[in-house]
Amino acid sequence: MQADHHTDFLIVGAGFSGLVVAERLASHGWNCVVVDRRPHLGGNAWDRSDAAGVRFHPYGPHYFRTNSHRVREYLSRFTDWHETRYTVNSHTHGRDWSFPVNLITFEQYLGRPSTTDEFEAWLAQRRIPITHPANSEEAILAKVGREFYELFYEGYTLKQWRRHPRDLDASVCARIPIRTTRDDRYLDESFQALPANGYTTLFENLLAASPRVTLHLGVDFDEAKVRWKHRHLVFTGAIDEYFGRRFGPLPYRSLRFEHESHDAETLRQRVAISGKPGFWQPVLQVNHPDPSVAWTRTVELKHATGQQLDSTVVTREFPKDWTPDDEPFYPVPAPDAREAYLRYARLAAEESNTSFIGRLATYRYYNMDQVTAMALNEADKLIDHYGSH
Ligand code: FAD
Ligand code: UDP
Repeated sequence: MQADHHTDFLIVGAGFSGLVVAERLASHGWNCVVVDRRPHLGGNAWDRSDAAGVRFHPYGPHYFRTNSHRVREYLSRFTDWHETRYTVNSHTHGRDWSFPVNLITFEQYLGRPSTTDEFEAWLAQRRIPITHPANSEEAILAKVGREFYELFYEGYTLKQWRRHPRDLDASVCARIPIRTTRDDRYLDESFQALPANGYTTLFENLLAASPRVTLHLGVDFDEAKVRWKHRHLVFTGAIDEYFGRRFGPLPYRSLRFEHESHDAETLRQRVAISGKPGFWQPVLQVNHPDPSVAWTRTVELKHATGQQLDSTVVTREFPKDWTPDDEPFYPVPAPDAREAYLRYARLAAEESNTSFIGRLATYRYYNMDQVTAMALNEADKLIDHYGSH
């Protein structure tokens, strides 16, 4: 096939990385074509509503959070925010526990009220002295000791990754805060909020503000690279796929999701369990470390969106071995996987007029704010290099 069109930048992937870099380049006068093989924009952050208007995250919960002033300011051009508390329980040994581990969890463990001082003294006796944890097992043993590690982390991690915590980087389990106060928020970042009308609207607003960006959905890179002659390529898909998996596929973890809508009548019957009229479960997310449960978490996004509706949507997330027919949802943060990635990264460094950004192209377990920052930085570099048009 012959290239029948020209563009300045061809951008593969219409997720956070691809759309942010496109918007920045377009604001400097460059024409950008963004393609995505999926039938929608937004990548894994894409959201939608069910028939009753309840917004949910088809690819699993996407809790926006950031410490970056630049990222927040930038995205605020395209959305208002609904500031929210992300609250999570862990369901194991037949009951709900406050999670991440905090003073309330400790009180549940003791079966009586306690104090920060008592909890800290208890932890000081339980913690295993490991100064530089080399993996996720050591990271948690060093923070809370064996009881809480076995209760909340070991089973969940095995289920999620089909790897033992000792075969994963320390940073995987260390993502989750541990506190000796009653602060039970799942995350630590200073800004925690969802786009007021959802991620899809945020991306639509970004495109509406960028007439030089053209989006083509349902178009694969293989087709796009021959269809659009371009001066520079920004690739945000999987790096091993870009290189034809010539060194073999990188390891990924995949997921399957089940979404269930529940009407007002069902929710009336659930009040005894949820404790909140109009909700299916008591908190936004319930984690399931037990191996007897096939899914890892049950999410009811309505707790975080603040939507005032009398029905709801509940999502269960089932971990899955990745095959080339699955979405590569997670790169595997472990030394062996990183070694394998570096072979591809060396090839990437030799590609001319091509940038590799985002979670899949850099094979990093990055959150949305981190890939946004990466895209902003890459756009700065490209504008430095090519100038404005
Ligand atoms: P993606 O969103 O993956 O977008 C890449 C796009 O490229 C995809 O749409 C894909 O279809 C397209 N593509 C790939 N290859 C090709 C090709 N060859 N041709 C055409 N198109 C192609 N982050 C948070 O900050 N908070 C959270 O709570 C959070 N929860 C998450 C939960 C789950 C289950 C998952 C999987 C991720 C979560 N994340 C979360 C991470 C977040 O999804 C990513 O940081 C972010 O979406 C990465 O954006 P991206 O543009 O790099 O990649
Ligand atoms: N984790 C765990 N128990 C939990 C929640 C998380 O052991 O109840 C571990 C698990 O290995 C998981 C990691 O901590 O993959 C990071 O959790 P997070 O909720 O941030 O995962 P994500 O939202 O990225 O899937």
